[in-house]
Amino acid sequence: MVYLFFASHWTLSVLFQSLFQHRYAAHRMYTMRPRTERALHLCTALVQGSSYLDPRAYAILHREHHAYADTEKDPHSPAHQKNPARMMLNTARRYEGLLARRIQPEARFLGGYPQWPALEKFFNSWPSRVTFGALYTLFYRRFATRPWHWALLPAHFVMGPVHGAIVNWFGHRAGYRNFATRDASRNTLPMDVVCMGELFQNNHHARPASPDFAARRFELDPTWQVMRLLSRLKLIRLAREPVEEAHVTPLAPRARLTESSLAVGT
Ligand SMILES: [Zn+2]
Ligand SMILES: [Zn+2]
Repeated sequence: MVYLFFASHWTLSVLFQSLFQHRYAAHRMYTMRPRTERALHLCTALVQGSSYLDPRAYAILHREHHAYADTEKDPHSPAHQKNPARMMLNTARRYEGLLARRIQPEARFLGGYPQWPALEKFFNSWPSRVTFGALYTLFYRRFATRPWHWALLPAHFVMGPVHGAIVNWFGHRAGYRNFATRDASRNTLPMDVVCMGELFQNNHHARPASPDFAARRFELDPTWQVMRLLSRLKLIRLAREPVEEAHVTPLAPRARLTESSLAVGT
């Protein structure tokens, strides 16, 4: 039971991060009706629980990452950090600054993300985070049968940052490259069921507007499969179709941040 809970929380948390915060809030890869957006926003908050990520702060931080990937101005590049913990500490500081609006980002990174002030105020608060943490703990008290099951519990509290650390560290350090981008992005796993497609960093940096992060026949991007299903059910409308494999050509130099890749301000 503990394994099932851990696997479900892990998978759904990163799926919603990829689907909502990354591909919708930061990149506007699809549109949907206001009511559907609210439903998806609420589901994301409930699934991510104690480590819910604010879509505005996430989108700005992520757009900065694309614009300055692996340069000194990148908010989270393994090229400029000693280890994943330090990288995530710096990332968390910037995220908190953006969340509290202490940091004023460049104007081009603003706009186009969903905002729901009442929900964000609640789920970004400490009482909400602590309540979710208590619920995870109660689940473990009821279902943990071995002492070492408890070693998994802390990961539930910080699921979002754990995924961020894995994607941003390994996605810019370990794996293979399909495209000659000028950043250090890599595709870590050919079938990314661990981070639901987020580990195709090289494909994504080369083609930031493509909703399918897989670029080769042997690659699988699970979040794109979910988007295809939602699109078929008419719950979302794709802003553009993915690039066909036949049209995949290595890019050099790196794809620049463009208006169309972020759809900023739409
Ligand atoms: Zn990246
Ligand atoms: Zn991105």
